[in-house]
Amino acid sequence: MTAQALQQRDLAVVIGLEVHVQLETDTKIFCGCSTEAGDDEEPNTRTCPVCLGLPGALPVLNEAAVEAAVKIGKALDADVAEETRFHRKNYYYPDLPKNFQITQYDAPICADGTLSVSVEGDRRDIGIGRAHLEEDPGSLQHEGGNIETASHTLVDYNRAGTPLMEIVTDPDFRGPGEVRAFLAKLEEVLEYLGVFDASRDGSLRIDANISLVPADEMDPDGAVDEATLADANRTEVKNISSHKGAEKALAYEVTRQKNAVKRGREVEQETRHWDESRGITVSMRSKEEEKDYRYFGEADLPPLRVADWKDRIPIPELPDARRERFREAYGLDAEAASKLTSTKEVADFFEDVADRFDAGLAATWVADDLLGELNYRDMAITDVSDRLDEFARLIELVDGDEITEKNAREVVLRTMLDEGLAPDDVVEREGLGKAGDDAVAAAVEEAIAEHPDAVEDYHDGEGGALNFLVGQVMSKTGGSADPGTVNGLLRDRLDG
Ligand SMILES: [Zn+2]
Repeated sequence: MTAQALQQRDLAVVIGLEVHVQLETDTKIFCGCSTEAGDDEEPNTRTCPVCLGLPGALPVLNEAAVEAAVKIGKALDADVAEETRFHRKNYYYPDLPKNFQITQYDAPICADGTLSVSVEGDRRDIGIGRAHLEEDPGSLQHEGGNIETASHTLVDYNRAGTPLMEIVTDPDFRGPGEVRAFLAKLEEVLEYLGVFDASRDGSLRIDANISLVPADEMDPDGAVDEATLADANRTEVKNISSHKGAEKALAYEVTRQKNAVKRGREVEQETRHWDESRGITVSMRSKEEEKDYRYFGEADLPPLRVADWKDRIPIPELPDARRERFREAYGLDAEAASKLTSTKEVADFFEDVADRFDAGLAATWVADDLLGELNYRDMAITDVSDRLDEFARLIELVDGDEITEKNAREVVLRTMLDEGLAPDDVVEREGLGKAGDDAVAAAVEEAIAEHPDAVEDYHDGEGGALNFLVGQVMSKTGGSADPGTVNGLLRDRLDG
């Protein structure tokens, strides 16, 4: 369709993604080098002849990477191949020492999956066309600037050979918000599977294809036919490294394309680079086509039969299923269930607490108090997962009426996190044990004797007087009395 023709039509956005996920394995995909970056490690130290692409070096496939790929396939409800093969994708680039990347072409390990996401309350099923294994290239460091302005570029092969799963979606996204929701969901699923570490730098990298098509050529259910898509020019945006970055990059690119159409200009079919610091996409080079890569079979790796792996390799309960179960089994509302399944570790922690107490009580303490305090301190549940007994003891102290809820929340829990103390030690050090009945009764008598004016005001019906006296008793007991009890005692005494 010509630019002029497109100018007259209402436009719809069509986006498809290629998501590169670094798999969390101990060693690289084709050699025994570690995938774990040490602190302040030197460049080119986690390397060997295989990942440096030296002549004659032979790849050996890492079983753990294949297992992770099968788990991902199962979680995405995809078909896991009976037999899968590797190919060489040929291109010359400094971060690729062999001048080809070992990847998968016509026999990917997984195909035809789906991931459902909820976008503003609507469920959207995003098709996964394929998901395949490949090796990560090395990384380039542009000195003194970015890819366009650097004086020179250094290359580090420590990353080369890290196992990647490339997940290719169908062109099912209708806007940047859907992409963000999908990526967040994908990360969550991958973390549940234990095959992915979101905190690792560059562990999720996204390329996105974006086109504008005439809105009236979309099906009512939002699907777009291949002819319409083939007719539209698209750009591929590379170098997106987070789900937040993806939404920004795509919002920018959609606006850029719409502005071009509005002015009657053609959207160039090209590859663009997302420049995160400037918040723009810039043209990189004209897009290669598949034939440019001269794919051919990797003769150094035999075909791999994975027919029985799908049954052999279990996957854990996934976030959606776990949320649903939490709602039913523990009677939680949607918000609490969602909070308590935000990571597998949080969900495990909650279930351990719920085993010991009433589920509602456990949910309040974990979802509202513990997660809130951890979040405030930039800590994660994994920082306290070995302190389950201490946390349970804190709930027990409140539940057994030994300390007030207020003190438990505002003093004991916070001190436990800040100073690593056990709850009983905090209670003792801070003198938080609930005042005994005699002590509270004595404080009530004292407060009444010391403040006859307030007693008179109370009898005159001044509402504030009772609160004042409660405050006096609380202060005399160092905050260790229960305010409701004090209130009742005072009323009984004054009205009696
Ligand atoms: Zn190596």
